[in-house]
Amino acid sequence: QVVVVGSYVTDLCFNCAHFPRPGETLAGTSRTGPGGKGSNQAVAAARAGAPTLYVGAIGNDAFGREAQAFYEAEGIPAHWAIKPKQPTGAAAILVNAEGQNQIIVALAANLHLRRDDLPIDAIDGARIVIAQLEADLPATTHALKLGRTAGALTVLNPAPLRPDFQPAMLKHVDILIPNETEFVELINRLGHQPGQKPLTAKALLKLAPAKLHALCGTLGVPVVIVTLGQRGCFISRADGYLEIPAFTVDAVDTTGAGDAFVGGFAAGLLEHEGDLAAAARHGCAVAALSVTKPGTAPSMPTRTAVSRFLKK
Ligand code: ADP
Repeated sequence: QVVVVGSYVTDLCFNCAHFPRPGETLAGTSRTGPGGKGSNQAVAAARAGAPTLYVGAIGNDAFGREAQAFYEAEGIPAHWAIKPKQPTGAAAILVNAEGQNQIIVALAANLHLRRDDLPIDAIDGARIVIAQLEADLPATTHALKLGRTAGALTVLNPAPLRPDFQPAMLKHVDILIPNETEFVELINRLGHQPGQKPLTAKALLKLAPAKLHALCGTLGVPVVIVTLGQRGCFISRADGYLEIPAFTVDAVDTTGAGDAFVGGFAAGLLEHEGDLAAAARHGCAVAALSVTKPGTAPSMPTRTAVSRFLKK
């Protein structure tokens, strides 16, 4: 099975005509829903058909109970670490009439996930262990280490690339999946040679594939998959590189596309017995379907929807 260790956050999404100025109170509309990169990826993998266990930390509060109820309703197994002194993670997301957003995220309980909270037996039996950087980093690193020791494939989505991220974490990673921004930051922080100009997102777009492949190689992870939004993704591993195009869809909300990709990729790895290209194509399909619907976790497609889409 797939074990996803990571964040759960309640998304509080507000639509407004314009962003409020200091002291201003605006009328708007709102919706709340389950979010957090870890949880979104677990939902994406489970809906795409992979037996999945989600591992995360929540508070003993109403949002935490909503989280548990959501997993029960979805029928996705979850291992909750309850932190009575911490609130459940929450994000205030403002979206203006132009579709731009402003977000404040309070990770709260997620930052209190501890090594002792990890379900050792489940990780021992896992084929794939997935993590991101929104939960406590020592506990996250420990989960990857346990996964690696137990013979699972370890996948890290280095998002968001926090200032306290330690490159040593990459030692425990088999497959690294950054988006363009995270990749640029990683290269500038770790793979960068003194005297070289820092890499920019603009320069990344113009790089020849062979150069991008060489840059991926400097990160010291066996497989690097850079997601490139509407351009799909780039797979780099020791024996060469591969570009997988995105699917063309009418996008209405691209938030969570990266999470959909990671979950869909993991489900694809199980379905295609470790074939990276087939798994990445599966990830692109799950992500493409997810951007055609608003929201993050609620927009993740089911296995039936994914197979129908891929047969078209
Ligand atoms: P993030 O959400 O982390 O910024 P990306 O924007 O790179 O990640 O998107 C992740 C994946 O989602 C891409 O590799 C692509 O397959 C898919 N995707 C993103 N945006 C679109 C889009 N507009 N149309 C189709 N697929 C998309």
